[in-house]
Amino acid sequence: MTTLLEKPKARRVSIVGRAAVYLRVSTDRQAENGASLEVQREACLRYCSDHGLDVVGEFQDVMRGGETERPQYRKALELATSGGIEKLIVWRLDRLGRDAAEYIGQLKNLKRIGIDVVSVTQPSESMFMQQMLGVMAEEESRQLSVRVTASKQRRYKEGYWGGPAPFGYDSVKQPEGGSILVPNADAPLVTEMFSRYASGKHSLSDLRDYLNSHGHRRHRFFVYWAMKNSVYAGKVRHGIFCNSAFQPKPERTEVKGKHEPLTTREIFERVQERLKENAHRQRGGVRPRYLFSGLVFCGTCGRRYCGMAKVRKGREIVNYRCNRANGVGDCLSHSIAEPRIKMAVIPPIEALLGVLGQEAIRKAVREELERQQRDEQEAHNSAKADLIAAQEKLEGRLSRLEDGWLDGAISKQRYLARRDEIEVELSEIKRQLTERPAQSPTDVSGVLSIAEGLTVADLDNTAWRDIIEGLVDKIEIVGEKRKKRATVRVHWREGFEAVKELAEAMSA
Ligand SMILES: [Zn+2]
Repeated sequence: MTTLLEKPKARRVSIVGRAAVYLRVSTDRQAENGASLEVQREACLRYCSDHGLDVVGEFQDVMRGGETERPQYRKALELATSGGIEKLIVWRLDRLGRDAAEYIGQLKNLKRIGIDVVSVTQPSESMFMQQMLGVMAEEESRQLSVRVTASKQRRYKEGYWGGPAPFGYDSVKQPEGGSILVPNADAPLVTEMFSRYASGKHSLSDLRDYLNSHGHRRHRFFVYWAMKNSVYAGKVRHGIFCNSAFQPKPERTEVKGKHEPLTTREIFERVQERLKENAHRQRGGVRPRYLFSGLVFCGTCGRRYCGMAKVRKGREIVNYRCNRANGVGDCLSHSIAEPRIKMAVIPPIEALLGVLGQEAIRKAVREELERQQRDEQEAHNSAKADLIAAQEKLEGRLSRLEDGWLDGAISKQRYLARRDEIEVELSEIKRQLTERPAQSPTDVSGVLSIAEGLTVADLDNTAWRDIIEGLVDKIEIVGEKRKKRATVRVHWREGFEAVKELAEAMSA
């Protein structure tokens, strides 16, 4: 963190020696000790010429009894804030305010934006003041920062909400400070989603479709995170956002919120259990039971197909059937026998392995793929760096905004409005940073090494499963009962086509 004392130095590097003179006299002669406007002006200008300062502005306020407005001083401040000067020259430091509290406040503000105030009658006092103020400002900023986060933390502990409102709620500012979540028109959708998922009859994709049908186009991930969000069971989590440079990061804690929950504790718990159970079912789980477990999808409803084995005449026959047809029962898709899927998947892979049997081709393909992966990785890294840079910029703006509010430079309303805007942008960046999937380039290295030593005939089911997982994105079963025969549509991974093309081009 740059200290407040360092800022002016940085500003003065390029521009040296521009000053403005500010003069103030009161019509009350007594208070001026005989120093007329002319006397003050002459002393200030002489100081400037003695110190090689270029006078770029002169501002004079004549204060009549009881008057508080100082229009010329405002103009001097404007010039200072716009970066037009480095020094403000005054007759005495107390020209900056009616009383000590005010002029010290003004000195502090000027110091912050890198302006040195010089009093021509008290030059050593000016120096001393500048240094004192630097230290004071730093200490004060530290204390205020601690105070703000401490009060924020207290609010969270009391169950107030901070940050953007989650789906189904609006965040409503409270007169006592802090915000409370209030269910909005979308709240019933959330309640329904929890009951549906807890019933065990609906998948996350079903819930996504349900949201879509109500005009909310969301990703399945959105549904997943919503189902995990304890705010819907009436909790408030905090410790996620904490930008204080001084406070230790608070630990993540969960307290009872002041808001109305959208689902019951029981349903929420059941949903968590189901999410845990289902976590391993993606792509057939850790140990898939059948050759194509987790890879086959219904072309009619989009659900996964589930494998089932029957023993007939001493032989095991595996059939796959749509989960929705199994469960809710309203999907008219066909079930399909494993040999039919094999017929669509295995021959193209065998052909590829045949071409890759030649060592020179394997080597060339491997090199080309490594190059492509490097490029992808670089692109990914630079996109991530951009996001992180944007995040840092926003966090900087947030802390400057907080300073601005604490200094009284902007109103509380404006501060809150801007803060909310920035926090929304920040959470979007954080989402993008976490959601960017880890690169999962087609695992062709496995295929290549298999092609090195083995003939297709040697492959067992486990080896085949590895190869298929590396090359096949999904297998779709298309066609409804009573309409037409089921067809197997294989969605190859991008890399499969690439390897195939490369291998064919090189063997030609
Ligand atoms: Zn189906």
